[in-house]
Amino acid sequence: MNYVHPPVLVVGAGPVGLIAALTLLQNGIPVRIIEKDHHPRIGQRGAGTWPRSLEVYNFLGVSEVNSLGKSAPPGRWYKPGTLEPLKDSLLVPHLEPTPAIPFHAPKLMGQQLLDVILRRHLEKFSCSVEMGTELRSFEQCDEGVTAILAKNGISETFDTKWIIGADGAKSIVRKQLGLTFLGESRDDIQIVTGDIRLTGVGLDRVLRAEELVFETIASLTLTEITFNKVVWMGNFRTNIRMVNKFSEGRVFVAGDAAHVHSPMGGQGLNSGVQDAFNLGWKLALVQKGLADKSLLETYSAERLPVISEMLEMTTSILDKATASGKLSAVQSPILYMLGINCRFSTVVLDEFVTSVERKPINAYGVLDEGHLEAGDRAPDASNMLQVGGAEPDTMTLFGLYRPWYHTMLVFAPSLADATLILGALEAYDKSVVRSAVILPSPASVTPVASPDLVLFDREGYAYSAYLVEAGQTKVFVIRPDGVIGAIVHGAEGVKKYFSNIFLDA
Ligand SMILES: Cc1cc2nc3c(=O)[nH]c(=O)nc-3n(C[C@H](O)[C@H](O)[C@H](O)COP(=O)(O)OP(=O)(O)OC[C@H]3O[C@@H](n4cnc5c(N)ncnc54)[C@H](O)[C@@H]3O)c2cc1C
Repeated sequence: MNYVHPPVLVVGAGPVGLIAALTLLQNGIPVRIIEKDHHPRIGQRGAGTWPRSLEVYNFLGVSEVNSLGKSAPPGRWYKPGTLEPLKDSLLVPHLEPTPAIPFHAPKLMGQQLLDVILRRHLEKFSCSVEMGTELRSFEQCDEGVTAILAKNGISETFDTKWIIGADGAKSIVRKQLGLTFLGESRDDIQIVTGDIRLTGVGLDRVLRAEELVFETIASLTLTEITFNKVVWMGNFRTNIRMVNKFSEGRVFVAGDAAHVHSPMGGQGLNSGVQDAFNLGWKLALVQKGLADKSLLETYSAERLPVISEMLEMTTSILDKATASGKLSAVQSPILYMLGINCRFSTVVLDEFVTSVERKPINAYGVLDEGHLEAGDRAPDASNMLQVGGAEPDTMTLFGLYRPWYHTMLVFAPSLADATLILGALEAYDKSVVRSAVILPSPASVTPVASPDLVLFDREGYAYSAYLVEAGQTKVFVIRPDGVIGAIVHGAEGVKKYFSNIFLDA
């Protein structure tokens, strides 16, 4: 059953639209999601899922991407003109797992399967994609948006509060908003991609790869091969473009609707998913009347610098590949997207870094485990022992973070030290703010104001990842998108942070 008057219309049921819808539903916001195609799309397209996106899927409870996704296979290089192997090497950079980075290896999952998995998650909220339903146009005013939809030749007028345009590279939402889409088209580069199943004598795994393509594969593979099936094939024209802003009034764009670029580096879908995740919790708070509309401006402000750097990086990979004529593996851990940050955002607060110390914006960032600021990705920590529960229970910090609430982590030497800070939290709506005290040693004292959880960091992983000394009191507010919203000394800092998020805070 879909809702009768959902306040959000999501246009496009590619991965980005599906993630936007799921994030909102988990936040308790009903959505209507439409897709102009009559049937789910076939073809795997963007398969590379990088660790930061795996974290996003984890927060959303979509564990299948990590559990069913395949590890990247090693690449094998042959002596030219022979089947004699020269070397095997990794196609992706190697990163050792740590308690702070549990998803340390990229996974491969084609978009066709990802879409199926995400649609199943929507169904848990009684929300299904309305296939064969196209957005034709819309008009917005201060109170809402009126969309004109078309289904089986029948026109429908639909009133809603917000529209998220996740309608791909040719986005009608972007065009109608009049957003610029500046950049370049590389007509000299044509990339043909597809899912082709073939078998060949002496080839030890089934390869998934127009006449020229078959001839090229056959000429490069020095063994007899049989083309079994062409599942999907497309001619990819390289466009490198992005919007000047991600929203106008009550209408937003996300994913390919907002940015297109070379598939080199496999950042496209991942970036789109992260756009949707950044927007979802903010839109939910505004729709619930808990936050002011101005919070939505930070969606554009936080994503523009990230996407701009992403375009630069993927274009540089493309240029190197075309100049050398080789498709070599890119070994930069920056592709993992774990360094992406919004330290520059107006709604993050860091009392431990003065503005003088702040460096120029490097939104794509680098992964530096020795430095942590508000606006960075919140690290994980494992083996945390729950104190005071009926049964001793171990948990991870990632197990606490969810897309529908902020999590306040109070690192304190004792519960007594944390009590004053927790008292400041009592005014906040428990459905959107939760708290945990992280102690460096086990405790038995009952606090005056009780946190949702008391955790003993028995291996010291949390203190190490969050760079806190054992005797120090330090408070981290983790946003619903797994980003550190604030690093502050105590209650005043928490209140100051939330005054930029919540109305009446
Ligand atoms: C060969 C190739 C390899 C790639 N590899 C990677 C990779 O490894 N990793 C990675 O991150 N990215 C990769 N990408 C990029 C990735 O495929 C795209 O970024 C991703 O599909 C974008 O998702 P989206 O949901 O924004 O848009 P889309 O997937 O394009 O979905 C948009 C949907 O909106 C629908 N729609 C459009 N207009 C309307 C309308 N008016 N009304 C209703 N519905 C509408 C469309 O039918 C479509 O289903 C690759 C791309 C290619 C081509």
